[in-house]
Amino acid sequence: MKQFKAESKKVLDLMINSIYTNKEIFLRELLSNASDAIDKLYYKSLQLQATGLSRNDFKITISIDKQNRTLTISDNGIGMNKEELENNLGIIAKSGSQDFKKVNDLKEEDINIIGQFGVGFYSGFMVSDKVEVISKAYGAENAYLWVSSGASGYEVKDAVKAQNGTDVVLHLKDGEEYNEFLEEYTIKNLVKKYSNYISYPILMECTKYDYDVADGEEPRTTKSVETLNSMIPLWKKAKNQVEESEYENFYKDSFHDINAPLKTIHMSVEGMVDFKALLFIPSSAPYNYYTKEYEKGLKLYTNGVLITEKCKDLLPDYYSFVKGVVDTEIELNLSRETVQQTKSLKTIATAVEKKIKQELENLLTNEREKYENFFKVFGAGIKFGIYSSYGMNKNNLQDLLLYYSVKQDKYITLKEYMQNASSEQKYIYYATGRTVESIKLMPQLEKVLDNGFDVLCMTDDVDEFAIRFIGEYEQKQFRSVSGGDLGLDDNLLDCHTELANYLKEALGDRVEKVRISTRIKNHPVCFTTEGEISLEMEKVLNAMPNQAGSPIKAKRILEINEQSKICAKMLNLFENDKDSLSEYAEVLYGLAELIEGIQNDKPTELVDKICNLIS
Ligand code: ADP
Repeated sequence: MKQFKAESKKVLDLMINSIYTNKEIFLRELLSNASDAIDKLYYKSLQLQATGLSRNDFKITISIDKQNRTLTISDNGIGMNKEELENNLGIIAKSGSQDFKKVNDLKEEDINIIGQFGVGFYSGFMVSDKVEVISKAYGAENAYLWVSSGASGYEVKDAVKAQNGTDVVLHLKDGEEYNEFLEEYTIKNLVKKYSNYISYPILMECTKYDYDVADGEEPRTTKSVETLNSMIPLWKKAKNQVEESEYENFYKDSFHDINAPLKTIHMSVEGMVDFKALLFIPSSAPYNYYTKEYEKGLKLYTNGVLITEKCKDLLPDYYSFVKGVVDTEIELNLSRETVQQTKSLKTIATAVEKKIKQELENLLTNEREKYENFFKVFGAGIKFGIYSSYGMNKNNLQDLLLYYSVKQDKYITLKEYMQNASSEQKYIYYATGRTVESIKLMPQLEKVLDNGFDVLCMTDDVDEFAIRFIGEYEQKQFRSVSGGDLGLDDNLLDCHTELANYLKEALGDRVEKVRISTRIKNHPVCFTTEGEISLEMEKVLNAMPNQAGSPIKAKRILEINEQSKICAKMLNLFENDKDSLSEYAEVLYGLAELIEGIQNDKPTELVDKICNLIS
């Protein structure tokens, strides 16, 4: 007996203890595996050509054996050899799951995460106490049997099987609740519900009842093989012939998400290139969405065969969250690599991109709350799209951006910002910080708000970088409330320059300048910056891995409120006790750092100085 890999054992345990509330999904998982296996063989046959296989030869068969309590799902697809049986069924196969280290600590509530792996095959154990897989790889001599009764382990033995393909035999658990899976009626309904669109026939021997008999006699029964599914893929159907729940089931099944999609987009395009597409905007991000492991792409079908699981060229990076299927006619004797470069794919990609944008705009206009939810999950990717293209995509993307407005206390677009801006306003003001709450408390905000101007909160690392590349919106430039000239009427004249210069000397290179002015109103002190790099950018850039050389430094200006008591005090000291002023300079510098959330180099010294001054 071989042991399952640790993480698989854990998932199996969860499966056996039925974390999925609807056990019935096991059937859709196994049928979808069978269909994938046929896809693989069909694709191979088209490439090799002279295999003698034709599309009509492929089928999936379900058989019920009530006496032995078994349900068997058979396909004549590509099959598995001994090694594949071990590798595919002995460990969780789905993409990236093995890299997902935390899998060992999974708890019941983590089923969301498991769902994203596509536990597929394992779901059979929700309804079975033993699973046998008899498989023969296409072109191979021998067949093998893989058998497991759950978490204890599995065995692989020689077996006999005439044709290539795979039989999955489920030995159903004892108990009332499992009996229904031995009923033709239930199986028929489950196929309709979850697997109707599978493009190969799903066959089952069904009982027909003939009631045309004499009174008191049992109805006559005959058996015949029926095709249970309609075989028309959803995307090939007319929109008005597809139920919302069908889209939803298809999405959940194909893209391993337990949540319904936020938006479904069904396209049928005739023109330079004919194609059909079924696209989904997920309502939550996959667990690995913001990691390098995440791969974008759409499934590409041609003539009903899956060519590429994730065709990257069909989606721009900034829409990498979109899942879905594109179906078009492409010559199949091309290699997969050449398929990706064909001109028709580029045409499709352009149309798909346009459509996604349009749908997002619709969502923004008509279903604001949904859009805001979308943006909270995927907005950073859109901002990144502006940044990583050096602003080339800005016209495309800038109207999809949302920022929290300090004045209006809600998320607004740039357009909405401008609609509420006054004509005297020189800039689009923004402030950066970790959270909206912390931004609202920034001293630098006061003056701008006092003038009646709104401030946009930027809380993502990428925000300021993206803004730099947008440059201006409706002829107004962006300006950080912590940046240089704010274009306000109030005199920004520096005053008490002698004191300011003295404090600057005391602080040395750490600041570009000390300024005493009316730029801040109620609070005594803060930083502003000069030049290209802001304090927020400094933090982000220095946090990047492989940051070679000396750390990046924003040019800090220590702003002191001319109206503050501390300023009056320092003016007095400047006349009478200059030497003690350097202590004050240090303390004010430390406090400005505190406001910005910058770690002071020598916190103990700072604390001692403050205590000295206040005791
Ligand atoms: P997934 O299908 O999401 O990859 P599964 O656990 O359902 O994960 O299946 C694991 C792997 O086992 C599949 O990727 C496939 O390689 C193989 N497999 C499962 N069922 C079959 C089948 N009926 N025929 C051939 N291979 C199969």
